[in-house]
Amino acid sequence: VFQLSVPLNFLGSVYRDMKQSLIDMESLFRLQRFSVRVKSKPNAPPLQLIHGGEITFDHVTFGYHPDRPILKDCSFTIPAGEKVAIVGPSGSGKSTILRLVFRFYDVTSGRILIDGQDIRDVDLDSLRRSIGVVPQDTPLFNETIMENLRYGKLTASDDEVNEVLYRVRLNELVKDLPDGVNTMVGERGLMISGGEKQRLAMGRLLLKDAPITFFDEATSALDTHTEQALLRTIHDLFREGGKTNVSIAHRLRTIADAEKIIVLKDGKVLEEGDHYSLLADEHSLYKELWDIQENLDIEEHLKDLEEEKK
Ligand code: ATP
Repeated sequence: VFQLSVPLNFLGSVYRDMKQSLIDMESLFRLQRFSVRVKSKPNAPPLQLIHGGEITFDHVTFGYHPDRPILKDCSFTIPAGEKVAIVGPSGSGKSTILRLVFRFYDVTSGRILIDGQDIRDVDLDSLRRSIGVVPQDTPLFNETIMENLRYGKLTASDDEVNEVLYRVRLNELVKDLPDGVNTMVGERGLMISGGEKQRLAMGRLLLKDAPITFFDEATSALDTHTEQALLRTIHDLFREGGKTNVSIAHRLRTIADAEKIIVLKDGKVLEEGDHYSLLADEHSLYKELWDIQENLDIEEHLKDLEEEKK
């Protein structure tokens, strides 16, 4: 038995390693959609996060096809340690920004700096290791809650995982389950909501402890107002210790408390500021988007009331 358990354990850990890379790859492929030929320069030094991961877009122009630019002379700064949101109409280039920071593609002109280093000059692996992503659709495995979380850091102790579980407020969910953290989730196990799934992904990322995190907000995650409020507070965990936290947001309510909101339109930065300063401008696109969403919320609310009456 002893002899057998060694190779089996070994296989188990190889399998887990494979799955962990799979998660990273999955998020990558979702962001990427196409294969690319970006490589490190020979002997490129690793990225040095000397200021906590400040990201600067300096006159960036980029298009997936040369004749169709998506970002046009785009300049902005995402300061380290602040909660920053990127918003804008569908197709304005929000996810493209994330793909460029990951260096799935190189800019056509201009440059992207992290803590002053042009990302084309640093080792690609070190760049990607520094960035964690919560993708729109989180891959969950048919395994226990504990195992699903641990993909963030395979060496995490049970205590570490439990701590994270608490921080993303999944302890409430787990408390009432007969098998607790050892409950299976996914197709053959417990079905969890879109929001809980994203919180699980956030837990993974907390374990991974990357200096820069991006949230590509899933609309399905925002099924309820409580869920929105929860996600907002959890966001704040990611900037502890001066880390960089960027949200690509579809619902403005989840990011209204960000210190900096960057409004994109047609590949350009149209407006920048916090919620109140952007709303104060009667003619801002932000105000227009906000009013549309608030009206939709009211309509939804009224519909819910109608349903209740029936
Ligand atoms: P949404 O809010 O709908 O997610 P977005 O602001 O994130 O939109 P992007 O995904 O950055 O927008 O896309 C910007 C534009 O680039 C779109 O017109 C899109 O069709 C185009 N695009 C995105 N990915 C590719 C690609 N791999 N190849 C070619 N065009 C692409």
